[in-house]
Amino acid sequence: MELTTELATKWFELYVQSIQEHKDQLNELDTAIGDGDHGTNMLRGVEQVQTVLQQQATANLSDLLKQVAFALISKVGGASGPLYGTALLDMSKYVQEHDSQLSNLIASGAAGIKRRGQSQVGDKTMLDVWQPVADDLANNQFNSSNLDQHLQATADLEAKKGRASYLGERSVGHLDPGAKSSELLFDCLLQVLNK
Ligand code: ADP
Ligand code: MG
Ligand code: MG
Repeated sequence: MELTTELATKWFELYVQSIQEHKDQLNELDTAIGDGDHGTNMLRGVEQVQTVLQQQATANLSDLLKQVAFALISKVGGASGPLYGTALLDMSKYVQEHDSQLSNLIASGAAGIKRRGQSQVGDKTMLDVWQPVADDLANNQFNSSNLDQHLQATADLEAKKGRASYLGERSVGHLDPGAKSSELLFDCLLQVLNK
């Protein structure tokens, strides 16, 4: 499946709303194993994304992804800003250099998070949603039940990266906040694709 500018615009518009609705939940998840600001950080970012979307009505897909990346890098703060920003920048570059196949795009985003975060699958981070979603897309198994399973699976993991890693074994039993905000992102994508 191809990502188009129109689909991407709808996708990010939904994500702005979703972060507004889930800000408190993201902060609560981050309070348990981090510093409690993930929802607040993401909300600052998506408010800037909203501004970008209003200004970029005619942008091509690569430019749109780049503008969203810059919005997140400049406003989110925290560890998650540069990670989401790198994912989207790598997706923007991928579109420019290759194609706009959704599975390839999400795989390039996941690779960007891995590189920027020096993280592996299983470290209990947003990558534990991004990578399996990329795999699901490649295998035609991208659906909400699999997506939810990937998020839930982060609860069983011990954090190896980010603030949650300071807790060691005590991070087990809690969902990763960045995995939750990523699950929200891909839930919005499912909504857009199913329309
Ligand atoms: P901060 O920890 O700086 O307050 P946030 O609370 O906004 O930043 O984001 C925390 C989330 O960022 C974590 O839940 C995790 O998903 C993600 N994260 C942190 N460090 C890494 C990393 N090295 N690689 C991948 N993801 C990471
Ligand atoms: Mg935090
Ligand atoms: Mg913080």
